Amino acid sequence: MATEASTINPFETAKRQVDIVADLLGLDSGVREILKHPKRELTVNFPVRMDKGGYKVFTGYRVQYNMARGPTKGGIRYHPQVTLDEVRALAAWMTWKCAVVNLPYGGGKGGVICDPKHMSQDELQRLTRRYASEIAPIIGPEMDIPAPDVYTDSQTMAWIMDTYSMQKGYSVPGVVTGKPISLGGSEGRGEATGRGCSYVIREAAPHAGIRVKGGTVAVQGFGNAGSIAAKLLHDEQGAVIVAVSDSKGGIYNAGGLNPHTVEEHKHKTGSVVGFPGAKSITNEEILETKCDILIPAALENQISKKNADKVQAKIVAEAANGPTLPEADTILHERKVTVLPDILANAGGVTVSYFEWAQDISGYFWPLAEVNQKLENVMVRSYADVHKVAEERHVHNRTAAYVLAIQRVVDAINIRGIYP
Ligand code: NAD
Repeated sequence: MATEASTINPFETAKRQVDIVADLLGLDSGVREILKHPKRELTVNFPVRMDKGGYKVFTGYRVQYNMARGPTKGGIRYHPQVTLDEVRALAAWMTWKCAVVNLPYGGGKGGVICDPKHMSQDELQRLTRRYASEIAPIIGPEMDIPAPDVYTDSQTMAWIMDTYSMQKGYSVPGVVTGKPISLGGSEGRGEATGRGCSYVIREAAPHAGIRVKGGTVAVQGFGNAGSIAAKLLHDEQGAVIVAVSDSKGGIYNAGGLNPHTVEEHKHKTGSVVGFPGAKSITNEEILETKCDILIPAALENQISKKNADKVQAKIVAEAANGPTLPEADTILHERKVTVLPDILANAGGVTVSYFEWAQDISGYFWPLAEVNQKLENVMVRSYADVHKVAEERHVHNRTAAYVLAIQRVVDAINIRGIYP
């Protein structure tokens, strides 16, 4: 998909974002250094028995970025291009994300370098269980709680929960979130990221001068986050979905696509590409599509200074983590495009993960309506908090979200003090 932007190191981006906010907040160099370093990181190399016989050694990571506000929380990504710096950046973003929506968590992230599209379910199960065993010493409900991310799902979490529980000798549902309901998962977790994103878009639309009802939407990455945001904007808010894409390419129809039918097509054929009645577009073109709301929901580094001036949307709602580079932020801000930053726009997932963990450790489960109501409360309050800081400080939403989040983390660091 990406351009030269894919060569940019996401951890350098994450540190630059901290520096910008540290300057604004006038943070001293000591605290600034803490914020730019992961607290703990583990690299594991482990063999997995392959179906065709023999073993293959895989490399995985778990990074716990900052735990000043509570146990670390963050997903596990399976992808051939996973790097330690990518995992560090994602763990840093989780720290700010948990803080911006005011969850009692720090941030973490994990990843395994592998190509899940070319592995069987049995191989993925063996890989997951071995990776879970390797990182078991540093995870747990009070320490670090993984969740799904790109190319991992509720089944992956069930395997991790089972592996960890086997080692402990009793069931520990709170060690991971995003589990199946039958294992202590939460109602509403599956659609929480897309749902949270749809609430934030609804709250921001009046400030961006658009109406979601009848407004046009393009979604890059028709996976968990992207497809659910598309369906909810279509079903609950009356938006018109004009373009969607996945790793194989994109489709466009100015008259609107039914996201449910597109999903069925993707189920049957493996891609949105070839959907009847739609024009083919590339993953670069979808970012420049004429629409009111653009939702990047795939990978990072998609909007750079090369294409930021071609974005036609009034709102860019970042369901993906890190899709916009800092120089592109400035261009979009100058062009009066409202960016709803990842740490706010996709925080619905971690928010319902937090609800899941709270339900697991209390052993008391809530109905779907209660979960969605609590999620809506968190997203509405968090958008209002970010918007207020943006207005007060005359900064764009990303900077405002970082100011809010980093100030909360810094407050926790300062009040705890430096040990010893
Ligand atoms: P997913 O695997 O369900 O979906 C990813 C989608 O992106 C798939 O449709 C895939 O085909 C597409 N894709 C992959 N490579 C692509 C490429 N090169 N070009 C265009 N599309 C491509 O993953 P997801 O859980 O929806 O995660 C997507 C993004 O949202 C990631 O950045 C992730 O970190 C972020 N996110 C997800 C959650 C969650 O709860 N699922 C929470 C917060 C953030």
